Amino acid sequence: MIQQLAAAAERQIPAALKFLRAMVEIESPSDDKAAVDQCVAFVAESCLELGGRVRLYRQKTFGDLLEARFGPRKSARGPILLLGHLDTVWPLGTLKNMPFRVEGGRVWGPGVLDMKAGVVMALLAISILQEQQKLARPIVMLLNSDEEVGSNVSRPVTEKLAKECEAVFVLEPAQGLAGAYKTARKGVGNYSVRVQGVASHSGVDFERGHSAIVELARQIDRITRFTELERGITVNVGTVQGGTRSNVVAAEARAEVDVRIAKAKDEARIEKHFRSLRVFDSKCILHVEGGLNRPPMERTRGTVALYKRAAAHARTLGFALEEAATGGGSDGNFTSALGVPTLDGMGAVGEGAHAAHESLLLEHMAPRTALLAAMLADAGE
Ligand SMILES: [Zn+2]
Repeated sequence: MIQQLAAAAERQIPAALKFLRAMVEIESPSDDKAAVDQCVAFVAESCLELGGRVRLYRQKTFGDLLEARFGPRKSARGPILLLGHLDTVWPLGTLKNMPFRVEGGRVWGPGVLDMKAGVVMALLAISILQEQQKLARPIVMLLNSDEEVGSNVSRPVTEKLAKECEAVFVLEPAQGLAGAYKTARKGVGNYSVRVQGVASHSGVDFERGHSAIVELARQIDRITRFTELERGITVNVGTVQGGTRSNVVAAEARAEVDVRIAKAKDEARIEKHFRSLRVFDSKCILHVEGGLNRPPMERTRGTVALYKRAAAHARTLGFALEEAATGGGSDGNFTSALGVPTLDGMGAVGEGAHAAHESLLLEHMAPRTALLAAMLADAGE
C-alpha cells in the first residue's frame, strides 16, 4: 500500500512544483509582516481547498500563524502535529539573483529547501491520503512566521498544540545529501558579556585607565574554556566590539556568545559558569546577560521509535533512511523538551539552506512525500 502512496506522489510532482514555485515567488522574510502574511494567505487558501479547518493566530509584528486541521476530529489514535514555518532568511528582491528554477535535477530558489518544499510535501501527503481514504487520524498543521528569528512569538502556540498530540513531525530539511532524519538537536543559548572600564588618554594619563578591552580579552579566554566537546557543549564568542580610538584606554567592550548543549541537564552547568565570571581588574565592571533560548532535543525512546518506523517504511520504498544529530535548533526542540516524541528533518533533501546555492534534489521529493504520508497514516506493511 505504501507503493500506491509513492505512485500517487510521483504523478503529482509536476503540480506540486507549480505550487512550490508560486510559494517561493511570494518572498517572505521574517522581518516583513506584510510579505509573510501574503504567503500565509496563499497557503491557507490551499488548506481550505483540501478541506482543512483553518485558523489564523493574528500577530502584530511578525506574520500570522497558520493552523490547519485535517482528517477526522477524533479517532482512537491521537493527532499528529506537522510543524513548519513560512518565513525565510531572504530579503525581498532576492529572486532577481536567485530565481526559482528546476535545473540539473534540482529545484533552486530562496527558501525552497528551508522550508517551503517541506510544506508542499506535507500538503501533498495529506491530499494523497484523502484521495486514497487513508486519513484515519486527526492531523494538526502549524506553520509559523518567526522561526528564522527565534520563534519567540510562535513558541507558546507550538507548545500548546504539541501537548494535544501523540507525535510531532517537523518539516525542516533532512540532514545532508543522504537525507537523514534528525533525532537529536542541540539546545541553543546566547549570552552577552559587557565590560565597563575607565577611560583615559593613552599618552598623558595611561596609568589612570582601566581597559575594558583587556578585561574582556581575559574574560573571553576564560569563556572559551567552557567548551567541553566530549559532553556536546560548545561556546563560541562570535562577535567582539569595544573602544573608540587607538589613543584612548577603552571604557567599553562587549562580546556576543553562542552556546550549544546536547543535554538538558547541562543548562545549569553553563549557567553556573557564566554567573561565576568575576573581573580580573577590580576597577572594571562586568555585566553578563542571557541564557538558553531553545532546549536540546534529546534522542528519546519515543523519537527513536518513530525513526525506526520511518526507516522500515523507507526500506519498503527502496531506500535506506539514516538518522542524524545536529547542532542546529528548530521548533522541534520545544516539542521534544515537552516529552512529545518528535521526528525532525521530514522535509526536502538538499543543501545550501541560508546560502546562495540553496537547492533540493528533485528525485527525493516523491519518495519522501510517500514516507511522510505513510507515517501520517501509520500504515503498517
Ligand atoms: Zn527552517
